[in-house]
Amino acid sequence: MKIAVYPGSFDPVTYGHLDIIKRAARIFDKLYVCVMVNSNKDPVFSREERLDFIRRITKDIPNVEVETSDELLVRYAKRKDAVTIVKGLRAVSDFDAEFQMALANRSIDKTIDTVFLASSEKYTYLSSTIVREMARFHTDLSEFVPEEIIGDIMKKYETGGK
Ligand code: ADP
Repeated sequence: MKIAVYPGSFDPVTYGHLDIIKRAARIFDKLYVCVMVNSNKDPVFSREERLDFIRRITKDIPNVEVETSDELLVRYAKRKDAVTIVKGLRAVSDFDAEFQMALANRSIDKTIDTVFLASSEKYTYLSSTIVREMARFHTDLSEFVPEEIIGDIMKKYETGGK
């Protein structure tokens, strides 16, 4: 059984992330989507909210499980018996940091490889930052995130989100 991990901050999850999740779920037998703590980012949505959003939009994909971890990514992957870390690549601008991280992770554990899925062209411009910015200005989010979580994203900004 080929197991993979798709890590991220998902603050909040977007159609771009969902596209990578669906495609990775077709490649691997089991995909763990893991909400990780990024010490450089101060998230707008709580960890529970981010988990709940991803769970809601992936509930019909049977081989996807959504979790969270404070561990080092490769240690989490090892614990889940994963052989692969999945990352999405939007543009050359993603490449430097992602390449560096892939090399660092490989130097820690050579049994776990990183694979990059090229983003679909219609989501290349899409990021959680753009979604948060749109939400802050009460713009229609239906092109960026699934319908079932839009209400909860907007609610955050009505009650003073960043
Ligand atoms: P962001 O970079 O938007 O803050 P995350 O840290 O949650 O998002 O990203 C998790 C993973 O998803 C990363 O590998 C990132 O490159 C990828 N990703 C994010 N947005 C997209 C998108 N629109 N298309 C493809 N991959 C994406």
